[in-house]
Amino acid sequence: MSSSPTPPSTAADDTLAASLKQEAARHLQALLRLDTTSPPGNERLAADYIGDILTAEGIEFRIVEAAPGRATIVARLRAASPTGRSILLMGHTDVVTVEADKWERGPFSGEHVDGFIWGRGALDMKGQVAGELAAFLAVKRADLPLTRDLIFCAFADEEAGGKLGADWVWNHHRELIDAEYAINEGGGSPFDIGGASFYTCQVGEKGGSRLQLTARGNPGHASIPIPGTAMRNLGIALQRLHDWQPPMVLTSPVRLLLQGVADALGGDTRTLIESVLVSDTPNWDDLARLPLADNVRAMLYAISHNTAVPTIVAGGQRINVIPSEVTLSIDGRLLPGEDPEAFRAAVQEAVGDVAEVTLTSRGTGIAADPDSPFFDAIRTTMQALQPDAHILPTLISGGTDAKLLPGIKVYGFFPILAGERVALYNPLVHGHNERIHIDDLALGSRFVYDLVATFCTT
Ligand SMILES: [Zn+2]
Repeated sequence: MSSSPTPPSTAADDTLAASLKQEAARHLQALLRLDTTSPPGNERLAADYIGDILTAEGIEFRIVEAAPGRATIVARLRAASPTGRSILLMGHTDVVTVEADKWERGPFSGEHVDGFIWGRGALDMKGQVAGELAAFLAVKRADLPLTRDLIFCAFADEEAGGKLGADWVWNHHRELIDAEYAINEGGGSPFDIGGASFYTCQVGEKGGSRLQLTARGNPGHASIPIPGTAMRNLGIALQRLHDWQPPMVLTSPVRLLLQGVADALGGDTRTLIESVLVSDTPNWDDLARLPLADNVRAMLYAISHNTAVPTIVAGGQRINVIPSEVTLSIDGRLLPGEDPEAFRAAVQEAVGDVAEVTLTSRGTGIAADPDSPFFDAIRTTMQALQPDAHILPTLISGGTDAKLLPGIKVYGFFPILAGERVALYNPLVHGHNERIHIDDLALGSRFVYDLVATFCTT
């Protein structure tokens, strides 16, 4: 009897890994070749493709449309006698627009070159949709003894806010997608601190509470300079807005993220983080001393503060007229648990009496509890695939469909391999030359399969 120090890698396991990789790549290429740019969306193309695949496997599905062409597809594998509520594998098939002439390869080509599959949506998020579909089909073929229903859903209209996708399906066909937990986009991209590799799993996101700032002042003929104009007041308001230092707010997912980094790295890093975590008035300047890459530091700031970033200036009509009013649109982003009106009041106080600040939308953040058996399963499944990985909960600064499904605990996780592709991918999302490496696609689809095989059969 031989003894081997390495874990067993059976032929069946290799076959499964190879078929998931190959199948996810094939479906991704096909999905990338369908132009589901939003606007107008036309996600029906993707829904019909996926429907044909499901039909060939003997899996029933529903396609529902909030408007002509704006199709969401849902399929379900039933547990014979469920002992728990459903699990949802979710994604979206719409993609953002492209500037095709800036691409090195066709944005709807699905070309497979040197291991990369090219096309708009490869990363956001037809890649994950294809990976989840491949895992879903593999679960069916393996005839796993499911103890929970497994739902696959590819929504329309995520990029434009989900009104014709997740929001509409939740309000009109909730029975199709209702679940205890869901896997979604938003996490699984590793980052390094102090030589260790951390994967974040999105358990929550900030909400958009947008503001309008209105500066008023004396109008007049522009040939005669006068004091107290709207432009002068806007200038002062902008300066004050940029000087504003909102207090750091450490929500529970970010506390767990920081504690996880402290535990993994120990030493001075642990001392620094723990001093911030126990403080009644935690200070960003202390946290900013962590040895972080600039982009990681910027992200950590964004997920630990309510932020107000001015984006659009409007005002003035003629070159020779001093306007009496100019406005500034401010992209406000709130942490979970924060009050939009209190946020508005804080920005107003920062700006002072030179301008009036009003709320134009009242989005609040959301957070699922990371202290759950499903989060534990995500962690153990990932650590079985990547033993050195640390898996930690986090918020994201942006938004996904998760906020539109208030009854479901949504976790964003579709892992990619640690290494230089992480930095490559960041600017490709919504940028030019979007592409994903098939080894990352393989890891993601394998993760989804293993998670289901672990969590939905016990
Ligand atoms: Zn997306």
